Amino acid sequence: MDAHAQAAANDALTQSDEAWRLGPRIVVYVARRILTMEPDQPEATAVAVSGNRIVAVGGEADVVKALGERPYDIDRRFADKVMVPGFVEHHVHPLLGASTMIADAVIAIEDWELPTRTWPAAADAATYWVALRAAYAANRTAPATFMTWGYHHEFHGPMSRAALDALSPDRPMVVWHRSCHEVFLNSAAIAKYGLTADKVGGQGLASEQVDLDKGHFYEKGLTLVASALLKDIFTPEKMRAGLDLFWRYLQGKGVTTICEPGTQMIRPLHELYGAVLSADAVPFRTYFIPDGRALYDQAKSAGTLDRLVADTDSYLSWGRGKVQWLPRQVKLFSDGAVFSLLMQVKEPYLDGHKGQWIALPDDYRDAVRRYWNRGYQIHTHVNGDAGLDVVLGALEERLAAAPRNDHRFTIVHFAVSTEEQVQRIGRTQAMVSANPYYVTALADRFSEVGLGPERANNMVRLASVLRQRPQVSLHSDMPMAAADPLLLAWAAATRTTASGRVAAPDQRIPMEQALRGVTIDSAFTIRLENEIGSIRPGKIADFTILEDDPLTVAPSAVRSIGIWGVVFDGTVRPIERSAERRRQGAAPSPSRFASRDGATSRSAAAATLTCSPTAGGNILAAPSPCSCHSPSSRAPTACACGGIMVHALADHYAALA
Ligand SMILES: [Zn+2]
Ligand SMILES: [Zn+2]
Ligand SMILES: [Zn+2]
Repeated sequence: MDAHAQAAANDALTQSDEAWRLGPRIVVYVARRILTMEPDQPEATAVAVSGNRIVAVGGEADVVKALGERPYDIDRRFADKVMVPGFVEHHVHPLLGASTMIADAVIAIEDWELPTRTWPAAADAATYWVALRAAYAANRTAPATFMTWGYHHEFHGPMSRAALDALSPDRPMVVWHRSCHEVFLNSAAIAKYGLTADKVGGQGLASEQVDLDKGHFYEKGLTLVASALLKDIFTPEKMRAGLDLFWRYLQGKGVTTICEPGTQMIRPLHELYGAVLSADAVPFRTYFIPDGRALYDQAKSAGTLDRLVADTDSYLSWGRGKVQWLPRQVKLFSDGAVFSLLMQVKEPYLDGHKGQWIALPDDYRDAVRRYWNRGYQIHTHVNGDAGLDVVLGALEERLAAAPRNDHRFTIVHFAVSTEEQVQRIGRTQAMVSANPYYVTALADRFSEVGLGPERANNMVRLASVLRQRPQVSLHSDMPMAAADPLLLAWAAATRTTASGRVAAPDQRIPMEQALRGVTIDSAFTIRLENEIGSIRPGKIADFTILEDDPLTVAPSAVRSIGIWGVVFDGTVRPIERSAERRRQGAAPSPSRFASRDGATSRSAAAATLTCSPTAGGNILAAPSPCSCHSPSSRAPTACACGGIMVHALADHYAALA
């Protein structure tokens, strides 16, 4: 134990000296290797825990010596395992995650290892239809509507009412798109929901975004079918079951802290979250960050922008137990979603379609100004380089007008950027919270459509960022990617694409850095780095227990390392038998993402997603209230994380609570 480690242990032990005889007995965990994420003492083989706090870290003999006369037990059950700080997933969406997990079949471009079963990837149209037919035939819940989530037109080919009728002439069937922005219904579902041409016509943009012959409802067109879907499919029992699946899923991935930036601020929904996620059985803590864009839009239309920040503060009181809101942090939005190729890019898309704004640049800058001036940390969803110009411009403006230290202004997602922008990130010391899975899922396809190879391969240029600032953090945006920190670390360190090639090898980051991105740097992004994210005396005892060492196995194998369980808040929590999913054999080989055979042309779908005769491609320029009447109902028609279905689901959950 070096002098620094000794001093840290002495501090931690001294502080709790009073409590030794009364407090919980110290447990010393001995492991094959402990990766601490602390630069002064990067590895160890023993860690002592008192209650929920780490009190000493080092070799076993050093740790025992540091404990002096204090009584302790030695726990050797991790002697052949590797301990890392408990994984921190700082960007997931519980509502959508839960809703997709209750599908009768999850058939997507990647494996989904749910607590109930693993749904293998379908990389192309042929595999998709084989899987769908098999799942349909095996399903025993008829005559209930059969719902499947995960279909993506780029990979699985055309979808239509006729194709679904051929599979299911009598039983209602709903195909929910991977993006959550579109559904396809068969004729039985259309009949069950009473969706005649009369009923879906004459309602402006919503009616334009329906193709009844194809059974296709997308973007604002979903408002015409959402309430029927919610009543039919998302029943109260299933909703709760979905949230249960959601937390058990995260348990299986070794996650000990989650955060949702930009949550729906609906009280009953959060009461439901509180009830489910604060249960003792849940081995992680949950944080929320308000959706400042929704609050800004409401305040602007109500003429109450002067109260915007005070209103935002008020959500702190909604916390309960281990489900809490983060003080003085807010989520804002810039441009459209990457999965739909709706981000704002400087060079035009290959097919000439236009990107979209989720927040108008002027509104965005005004929101940044208001929150910045009150000391908030601002997280901004942004995916295109033109979107990033607006975001960096707003930050530069604030730094000039009202300089702040340690602002941690965070660029969220970070798909397309330029080297010049990375220099600006260095000068402003903006944080980057990236989704490295974009490279895996999309670099091949977007090399051909939308972006072209130069921009597609260089999405999420993290090595460049690391030359400018010390941290990057990684997130899944579940269900946009699997909330699986080892998968994210693998994606950032290998940049392996769907076809198995490496996209922009120079942008790979070292595995140590990628692991920091799902532990200490993830904690740093949400300002919790003094409590969690590394293994250091004084911090909370959150550990993820791995079956192998991510720094010694080949980088390509990191995603397949088994998770034994966690120590959460000082308590050992093995993965339950039923929730256990050993990864061997379950993790897809990269080839199972391969897309080319089944892919259809982007242009048809891109046109449906972007056509708006009135706004020249900027259909978000004048957001109109959607029909769901939720408090955040000034929803854009192409929001980043699920569109109108998010709001409809939120209202629905709210009604259940
Ligand atoms: Zn987002
Ligand atoms: Zn998100
Ligand atoms: Zn809405």
